[in-house]
Amino acid sequence: MTVEVSQTRTEVGNYFVSNYPPFSQWKAEYVSQALDALAQPARVEDPLGLYLHIPFCRKRCHFCYFKVYTDKKSSEIEVYLDTLIKENELYSRTAAFQGRQLRFAYFGGGTPSYISEKQLRYLVEGLNRHVSWANAEEVTFECEPGTLNKNKLETLKDIGVTRLSLGIEHFDDEVLAANGRAHLSPEIYRAYQWAREVDFPQINIDLIAGMIGETEEKWRETVRRAVELEPDSVTIYQMELPYNTVISQDILKKGITSPIADWPTKRGWLNYAFEQFLARGYEIAGTDIVATKKKTCRFIYRDALWHGGDMIGIGVSSFSHFSGVNFQNAHNFEDYVRILNEDRLPIYRAVSLTPKQRLIREMVLQLKTGILDTGYFRRKFGVDVWEEFRPVYEDLEDKSVLQRDNGTIRLTRRGLLEVDHFLLEFFEPELRTVRYA
Ligand code: SF4
Repeated sequence: MTVEVSQTRTEVGNYFVSNYPPFSQWKAEYVSQALDALAQPARVEDPLGLYLHIPFCRKRCHFCYFKVYTDKKSSEIEVYLDTLIKENELYSRTAAFQGRQLRFAYFGGGTPSYISEKQLRYLVEGLNRHVSWANAEEVTFECEPGTLNKNKLETLKDIGVTRLSLGIEHFDDEVLAANGRAHLSPEIYRAYQWAREVDFPQINIDLIAGMIGETEEKWRETVRRAVELEPDSVTIYQMELPYNTVISQDILKKGITSPIADWPTKRGWLNYAFEQFLARGYEIAGTDIVATKKKTCRFIYRDALWHGGDMIGIGVSSFSHFSGVNFQNAHNFEDYVRILNEDRLPIYRAVSLTPKQRLIREMVLQLKTGILDTGYFRRKFGVDVWEEFRPVYEDLEDKSVLQRDNGTIRLTRRGLLEVDHFLLEFFEPELRTVRYA
């Protein structure tokens, strides 16, 4: 088997692997599988997480592919928050939730920090009436710098946020503006300073390599400024072009060539960032994360989810993984609110994973951490993953993408930079050629 790992151009439809089976295989006719899983009694010892989708943003970024709204009035936002609380309550009544504690919570979006302090406190109070994160080890909150002030950050600390994630993306104002970001660099510095003063246990910053207008010089300057801030961890994405971004639609409708740098260039930029952070005592904590060695930087949300842990996603179009079933909520604001007003869970598509699919899901996701413990798969699935996928692993080993070493499979630097381009070789043959999303 030969694995192609070096595509060059950034084309519309390029994606990164974030779940398995591909989203195109999740179907409305399988929703009963999700409901059946929720009707089973709780396995109290299993880790449980809650993801909350806050789909509001100040502006839509040109590269955004999430479900977001930039035109909702305060009254509509409040209806949405009540609906989230209602959804959380419905889950709390299921058999599968009885006796379980949340181990982590994740506020994603959209822009969770878009909502006001008052709305935030209202939401948290409402959620905690039914499912409390008082004992959670990690509460992550995504923020857009321009939506923050010091009081709001203090409120976040107060409600239990342990991991603040700042969507900086870039430091160059021309690049930020060309990509439709709502914030500029002065807002980044102001927000970061406040966040440090409020003293969150962990501050992550997000960067994107290869935005419109990116150059070698601008990227190096962005990395220099990121290093200067001394964040606890940095997540660095390579710009992609899923179908539903403004950039992708411009390419498809106007026939223009992709304005995004090619993959080898973006990998070079990511590699440069890795080198700069490694030289300052950080370590590589995944294919896109560097973390400081000075303190323990965990990311429980990612680790639990990628080890098959249960996570319920509430909110419009949110994704869940629960008892080996993947499912997603209604992806339209009005439908989401209406269904919950009828006292029903708003799940619109699902897929129950076979044992083999659970194994593949965990294996491809854990490969994205850069290291795979084969013993884990032997214990959990009774499978030697190297033997099971020998032709693919051997080919990747020949290409210096990974190495096998005493029960672990470790990605090389090249493997870390190219991971999303070879993971689909582990997919079941009939799912390699289907549309991913
Ligand atoms: S801030 Fe994030 S979620 Fe909002 S439009 Fe930009 S990329 Fe999308």
